[in-house]
Amino acid sequence: MSIYNFSPGPAMLPEAVKQRIADELPNWRGTGVSVMEVSHRGPEFRQLVDETEALLRDLLDLPDNYRILFMPGGARQQYSMVPMNFARPDQQAIYFVQGHWGKDAIGEAGKFCQAEPLMPYNKDRPYAEIPAHNFDRITPETAYFHFTPNETLEGIEWHHDPDVPHQVPVVADMTSNLLSRPLDITRYGYIYGSAQKNLGIAGITLGIVREDLLHRAPSGLPLMLDYRTYANSQSLHNTPPTFPWYVANLVLHWLQENGGLDAMAQRNQEKAEALYRFIDSSDFYTNPVRPEHRSRMNVTFWLADESLNERFLEESRAAGLLALKGHRFVGGMRASLYNAMPIEGVQALVNFMREFENRYG
Ligand SMILES: *Cc1c(COP(=O)(O)O)cnc(C)c1O
Repeated sequence: MSIYNFSPGPAMLPEAVKQRIADELPNWRGTGVSVMEVSHRGPEFRQLVDETEALLRDLLDLPDNYRILFMPGGARQQYSMVPMNFARPDQQAIYFVQGHWGKDAIGEAGKFCQAEPLMPYNKDRPYAEIPAHNFDRITPETAYFHFTPNETLEGIEWHHDPDVPHQVPVVADMTSNLLSRPLDITRYGYIYGSAQKNLGIAGITLGIVREDLLHRAPSGLPLMLDYRTYANSQSLHNTPPTFPWYVANLVLHWLQENGGLDAMAQRNQEKAEALYRFIDSSDFYTNPVRPEHRSRMNVTFWLADESLNERFLEESRAAGLLALKGHRFVGGMRASLYNAMPIEGVQALVNFMREFENRYG
């Protein structure tokens, strides 16, 4: 029986990447030891660092004035680093909130600058759309605009780049849709994402910053919370999370060998469409998210009869379909379809859902 892991994160890795890790674990690149046991300043690891950067530049078509940073601390640490580096304490930063992670981001930013929501947001109910909005509150003095292009819990995704006025830098938490399709980075000042969803395993966070923004940071920031520390040392100021960096490198190779981001975008679109099409065709399952705002990465759905939830989870698990439980804040079910999920996984899920409906519907 095939196992398909729909975990929202840490999420599944491509089979080929796991195999490669297993194969070269005892003797990495002829060093005679594993990648976990070599110096981050040795020639082999330095080569991995250069290669990883080159792969990212190539896949994302990054212009020279964007710098790549690899950091510890996860996306949640970025919630503090972004305002610390890009805003003065008295300066306004505007946050767009349409879900759980956006709320956390603005909550943390409020400790460091005047973080304000673009419009009032509700704390108590999961969102089912990107609320209608305009950018009138943004002024030339606004430090930056922050949003979450894919809200992982609710399954809500922006399918366009926001048109933010006055050349205010756009900052995005791309943790759950990083590298899932091509990106016009020139529309952004800073993007970031922790690796355990689309780029590898927990422990490392990717940031891509437009160079001029690095000059904004006040002096006296703690070194490890200052983006310049990473930019000026190729992210090797201290001992970095070497194993997660290595896994990210393998995932990037895999992306490139599998057609790059255009191919990923097409696959991701096909996967999500197949699942939404089935959900919409059934009265037994529902998804409340406005169709044009539905996530390609995290597909939420509810059983019309919620008393069947436990049985659905139990039987899906027994059928090799793992981690379909929705987040407790949102409820229901959620299937995460990151890059590594093959179309066969979605087909197996749809077949299981159809059969479950036939038995209990
Ligand atoms: C998972 C997730 C986070 C949390 O990431 P950590 O690495 O655990 O801090 C933040 N933002 C988004 C959009 C996520 O999906």
